[in-house]
Amino acid sequence: TTETSVPQVDRSKLTIGEEVAVEMVDVHKWYGDFHVLKDINLTVHKGERIVICGPSGSGKSTLIRCINRLEEHQQGKIVVDGIELTNDLKKIDEIRREVGMVFQHFNLFPHLTILENCTLAPIWVRKMPKREAEEVAMEYLRRVKIPEQANKYPGQLSGGQQQRVAIARSLCMNPRIMLFDEPTSALDPEMIKEVLDVMVDLAQSGMTMLVVTHEMGFARQVANRVIFMDAGQIIEQNEPESFFNNPQHERTKLFLSQIL
Ligand code: ADP
Ligand code: MG
Repeated sequence: TTETSVPQVDRSKLTIGEEVAVEMVDVHKWYGDFHVLKDINLTVHKGERIVICGPSGSGKSTLIRCINRLEEHQQGKIVVDGIELTNDLKKIDEIRREVGMVFQHFNLFPHLTILENCTLAPIWVRKMPKREAEEVAMEYLRRVKIPEQANKYPGQLSGGQQQRVAIARSLCMNPRIMLFDEPTSALDPEMIKEVLDVMVDLAQSGMTMLVVTHEMGFARQVANRVIFMDAGQIIEQNEPESFFNNPQHERTKLFLSQIL
């Protein structure tokens, strides 16, 4: 595979705080009889950029979806921004307001304009006045470099543009943590870069990011930690240089030899 180049990042801008953003302790999850997450332990500090990679079916999506309760874990503890995820619906709502998520297939509302996609949650969930929500949305659409698309519908935009809208839409909720699930996997190569550029910008703004991706250029430049998952477990994690140059486990070596 070819690697999309990512602009040189000033890593001194990427600072990690003391505060814990996400904590997973001895987390297990099953789909029916299938044990999909096995004893996951993960502490993410504010400002960290974590890349999660691993073979298809290893549980990467499930892991990050547990963080905003799109999936429910059955054992162990998950604490997000100081709030423990339990069946308390109020807490789940609270966490979902703090955690933005970007999916592989954008998941924009096709019958709403770009601007309406971006203002829907701020107006209905945050109770923001419409005028203000539109101002905030335009600010983020400028930041992802597509303010001129505001009154179009998702179907009129390219995949790369739609994904940038999806990122802007998340940011309109002012999240403290952003989850990305293979945000560039559905995109043509020429569009991958424009999405990665936006993600680099976001990292430099100090956002805490968990990113499932096989874009190893992004991992090298932006991640402070790369996690390798296989068969529901975190097999290995390290800062990017050691992860790529000196992987410890056979399964990691095999995986890297297949994708690099
Ligand atoms: P990855 O994102 O690493 O490809 P997933 O977290 O999507 O892995 O899936 C992990 C495993 O769980 C896969 O074997 C997948 O088939 C299975 N799985 C995912 N979602 C469900 C579901 N809703 N019900 C049953 N099995 C599922
Ligand atoms: Mg997945």
